[in-house]
Amino acid sequence: MEVLEQRILKDGTVADGGILKVDSFLNHQCDIGLYNEIGKEFRRHFTGEITKILTIEASGIGIACVAAQYFGVPVVFAKKNKSLNLDGALYTSVVRSYTYDREYTITVSNKFIKPEDKVLLIDDFLANGQAMHGLIDILNQAGATLVGIGIVIEKGFQNGGKSLREKGIDLYSLAIIDEMTPGGIRFRH
Ligand code: 5GP
Repeated sequence: MEVLEQRILKDGTVADGGILKVDSFLNHQCDIGLYNEIGKEFRRHFTGEITKILTIEASGIGIACVAAQYFGVPVVFAKKNKSLNLDGALYTSVVRSYTYDREYTITVSNKFIKPEDKVLLIDDFLANGQAMHGLIDILNQAGATLVGIGIVIEKGFQNGGKSLREKGIDLYSLAIIDEMTPGGIRFRH
């Protein structure tokens, strides 16, 4: 997605540990015009039936909510800490955080993902795929159908994308970075 790649080149910065910082437009300050373009592009790609969008807090929520307006479906987000507000049965999965280098448990109430749901997963970044594998685990527990995965920025030099595509999943990443150094960013085309 050309407008996204240009924005990454203009405002993204490469930090230590293979981290791309896009705080000024994607996951701290949010450029809603860009979010809308991202939502439209996901809608253009995922044309089949979708009944719900599932994401993970925190950065995925805004992107998923804007995108959901183009699909006309609710957004559910996995919580990273077990909340006392989550009554009843929960689906849980353990995820290793790439950015914080620790494990955490994600939870989703069984009220909001049902066996008949056809679910699109959305997130801001794909690195090693831990977050997506955790959400897929939750869909499997619920007996729901995974329709596809929409990612804003995939770091193609890490193995998350490869492992998900090898499973035959429709993974659509709007920008795929194959190489990233403080001196430059190279996209896959
Ligand atoms: P994964 O689970 O695929 O290893 O990592 C994806 C998660 O880690 C995303 O939800 C995202 O929040 C975070 N993440 C991974 N790599 C980066 C990065 O380079 N920059 C930022 N800002 N977040 C990242």
